[in-house]
Amino acid sequence: MVVLFNNRQLTDNGQLMTTTITERFKQIRKQISEAELVCNRQPGSVLLLAVSKTKPAEDIAAAYQAGQRHFGENYLQEALRKQQELGAYDITWHFIGPIQSNKTKALATYFDWVHSVDNLKIANRLSEQRPAHLPPLNICLQVNISDEPSKSGIALAELPQLCEQVAKLPNLKLRGVMAIPAPQDDFEQQRQPYKTLYQAVAKLKQPRLDTFSFGMTGDLNAAIAEGSTIVRIGTALFGERDYA
Ligand SMILES: *Cc1c(COP(=O)(O)O)cnc(C)c1O
Repeated sequence: MVVLFNNRQLTDNGQLMTTTITERFKQIRKQISEAELVCNRQPGSVLLLAVSKTKPAEDIAAAYQAGQRHFGENYLQEALRKQQELGAYDITWHFIGPIQSNKTKALATYFDWVHSVDNLKIANRLSEQRPAHLPPLNICLQVNISDEPSKSGIALAELPQLCEQVAKLPNLKLRGVMAIPAPQDDFEQQRQPYKTLYQAVAKLKQPRLDTFSFGMTGDLNAAIAEGSTIVRIGTALFGERDYA
């Protein structure tokens, strides 16, 4: 089985790398289906978002061959480069990284989803800068659910007000929430922050939110158990990232 190798060892052999990525997608799709079943979730209710940050366009093309259509990126310039290389592909692009004000115009123009909105100023700019010919930009509000001082995201207590404000913006479609809890090894502990956030969203009077962007390579089963509708998976699909 080629899945025993990681991408770095295989970059000299494009065919093998494609096979590896195909196998990894099969494996993760199977894991998601099984988790849906075990958790009494509707089959197909959890979308796989392939997080391709730091990975070359060839890896995205290999994933596309394996049937993947939704890709997530964290760094704008890197994402725009890959979007250009992959212009012929029918890809839905999600932005999941921190947002500076000077990036909003490109985000509003070149992405279908932004998961990492955590203030009204950024939301306003995205709405104003969304080109008129495009449908409203899908938005998730990022919640700093483990209350980590260094992390992006609003506090849970700020969620009702920001939801109400963002829901009014004409060129955005507020879909839900995104969270990156502090890493935990234990399954039950992994579930807790997602459960808290899910319940807080359920209590909101309006708007109706349908998206929970919960779960990464290390905690996708716990996230699916607590209502995830989008899991954001990088390492398990594309191998370890090399930031060098
Ligand atoms: C990098 C990243 C992921 C993917 O993480 P893995 O552990 O590699 O699956 C998911 N979400 C966000 C916001 C990320 O920055």
